[in-house]
Order: sequence, then C-alpha cells, then structure tokens
Amino acid sequence: MNVLVINCGSSSLKYQLINSDSEEVLAKGLCERIGIDGSAIVHQPAGGEKVKSEIDMPNHTKAVQLVIEKLTDPQVGVITSLEEIDAVGHRIVHGGERFAGSVVLDDEVLAVIEQCNDLAPLHNPANLIGINSCREILPDVPMVGVFDTAFHQTMPKKAYLYGLPLSYYEKYKVRRYGFHGTSHRFVSEEAAKMLDRPYDQTKTITCHLGNGGSLCAVRNGKSIDTTMGFTPMEGLVMGTRAGDVDAAAITFLMEKEGLTPQEMDTILNKKSGVLGISGVSSDFRDIEEASEHGNDRAEMALEVFAYKVAKRIGAYASAMNGVDCIVFTAGLGENSGSTRRLICDYLGYLGVHIDSYNNSLRGKAMEISAPDSRVRVLVIPTNEELVIARDTKELLDK
Ligand code: ADP
Repeated sequence: MNVLVINCGSSSLKYQLINSDSEEVLAKGLCERIGIDGSAIVHQPAGGEKVKSEIDMPNHTKAVQLVIEKLTDPQVGVITSLEEIDAVGHRIVHGGERFAGSVVLDDEVLAVIEQCNDLAPLHNPANLIGINSCREILPDVPMVGVFDTAFHQTMPKKAYLYGLPLSYYEKYKVRRYGFHGTSHRFVSEEAAKMLDRPYDQTKTITCHLGNGGSLCAVRNGKSIDTTMGFTPMEGLVMGTRAGDVDAAAITFLMEKEGLTPQEMDTILNKKSGVLGISGVSSDFRDIEEASEHGNDRAEMALEVFAYKVAKRIGAYASAMNGVDCIVFTAGLGENSGSTRRLICDYLGYLGVHIDSYNNSLRGKAMEISAPDSRVRVLVIPTNEELVIARDTKELLDK
C-alpha cells in the first residue's frame, strides 16, 4: 500500500510517499512559504537529487496539487498516476482527551478534531486545512489521523493534573497532555526490539531532543509521564522555549515590563531556551561551537540544558521504580555525543556507563552504553512518518 504521509503547518507542508509493505520511502519533500511571497516546493525521489521549484502557492490546496504533480512527474516522479496513492496519513498535533490512538478520518471525527483547536490554536487548524485540501484533491482516498498527544493518554491523573483549582480542568480541560508521542512510542518500541525484551515488560526513558524537546517515562509499553504539558512549552529548556518557569515569575515580568499576554507568549516560545541564555543561537551546533571557543553564556546554556534532562531522568527512574533503558533521539539526541555525555555523567548512581567510542558514532541505531552498564543506553533515529504510514495501513487493513 502506498501511503502519502502529510505533516501540515500553517505555512508549510512536509510529505513522504511510503510503501507501507516494504516500508520504503519512495519520495519526500516540502512545500514552504505557503500563502507567502516566495513559495517553493522541494521534492526528492528516493536515490535522486533534491529539486527545488519556485511556484506560487496561495493556499494548501495548491500545495497538495503540486505534491501530486511532482509525485507523478515523468522526470522526478515515482508513480504514474494518482490512483497509485492508496491512502493518506496525517500528523495531527492535538487530539485532546478524545483520541488515545490513530483514527480513520471522516466528517464526524473531523468535527471532534475541530473541537480540539482551542487547545492547539497554532497547529490544529493548519492540520485540518491540510486534511481538507487532501480531501478536495483525493476525494476517494481513505485518510487516517495520527496524534502527537495520543500515546500519552495512558498517563494517570496524578501525572496529568496541575495543582490548580480542579474546576479549570473540568471547565477548560487545562491539564498536561504531552507531545512528541509518535516519536516516544516509536523509539521505545524499537528499543525493546534492539534489547530483545518484551515491550510490555520494559521500563524505558525516551529523550526526544530536537529544537523542541521532551522526555517520556514508558512503563511496560505505556506512557506514564512526560515533560511537556498543556502545551509544548512545559518541561525542558529547548531551542527557543523556556520550559518550566515559576508561573509567578511570568506575571512579575509582565507587570515590570508592561507586556501583553501575546508578547509574553512570544518571549516564552521564541526568545527563551538556549537561545535566550546563550544569546548565540537556538541551534545546538552553533552553541556547541561557541562554547568550544570559550563563550561562557553558550557553555552555561548547554549546562542548564543537560542538567534539566538529567534531573528528569532521575525523576522518571523513580516514577517507574527503576529503568532498564534510556533512549536518545531527534536532531540533538541522535547527533550530539557531547550532549549525551554531559547528561549521562549525572547518571553514575543508576549504574550508567557510556562507551566513548560508540558514543562518538553517528547515523544509525546503536547501543552507547558499556557492557558493564546497569542501564542500557541507546541512540535510535526517530521516524514519525513511518509510524504514520504503519498506523494508516493497519487501520485500513482492518
Ligand atoms: P525539530 O524537528 O524539533 O525541529 P530536530 O529533531 O531536527 O528538530 O533537531 C534540530 C536540533 O538538532 C537543532 O538544534 C540542531 O542544532 C541539533 N543538531 C542536529 N545535528 C546536530 C549535531 N551534529 N550536533 C549537535 N546538534 C545537532
């Protein structure tokens, strides 16, 4: 089955065409600056070069149309007609409390997803626009939605309730939801396979460290806690997001600086994190380089980041009454041996020992813990698109 996987943002649309039987990626690409001047599509067939075409894309429907054109193009295409797209799998950010797993998308389900827009005003409306555009262009092709929040719906109340008046949860559903669920699920399953252990009898802490970052405690195949909360702002210090801050510091700053809620939100989401601390960049590569050249603020940013991750690992080891395995994934987790080292240096009390040579390697799933390490430590490249293709196939095969 050929599954077109779509990840739609407000001005971008990423796609992959995956053969869900062989799990081969046939082609992938990105439409950028949709609805903005200078829009372009970058398309790459498997084994081929990236091809960039600057084409006006006033809306997402036009973007989907272009994706289909590229996929069926005689030169750079990988299929001969639209008929070879058997299904579409969509990434959806927020499924609220309604979706604990992936679903086949129909009018009824879409109406429920729309009700979750309030919880993710920046993301869900864009996801829905992507879905509606695909339905317009591929009206007879079945579609599935895969939610970032779904994997964390197994969190118990004690993990997802804030210490706020309960009425706010009851009235507005203000609670912790967690994100990156597709990635945490994928790497925790892969980890169990790599260790040759039953997934439902393994305690894993997954560290998804990219521009945005979150940790997840996966006990016996179920998320029991994660660092992101009501929004992807909570938890770790991230590229540009502040992560946990005393809520009173926020109201204090708003008063001192006369900031509106929107202005404060922009500071917390776009100007904070390792960018805010280092003053260098939100990109960890730039910060690592600056730190190596003696920039104290860059060094401090890396230390704050690693310390926070290490503290949460300790917290989750205690929440699960032990840990068998720690997994690093996403841009930073997969590529930065020095960050993994900084974090793991705190974990000697758990019996974590890192093999320096393996920790210096890149680009594949591997174990980086030494043979005498009591907790196994793995690096596993995440693959959210593959999960979306697998879920789509599984649901439609039923
Ligand atoms: P997202 O999907 O959240 O946008 P990614 O998972 O692509 O992010 O991760 C991006 C982050 O990974 C960037 O901050 C980048 O600095 C970091 N990164 C990627 N490669 C490396 C590397 N070789 N060394 C250090 N950091 C890296």
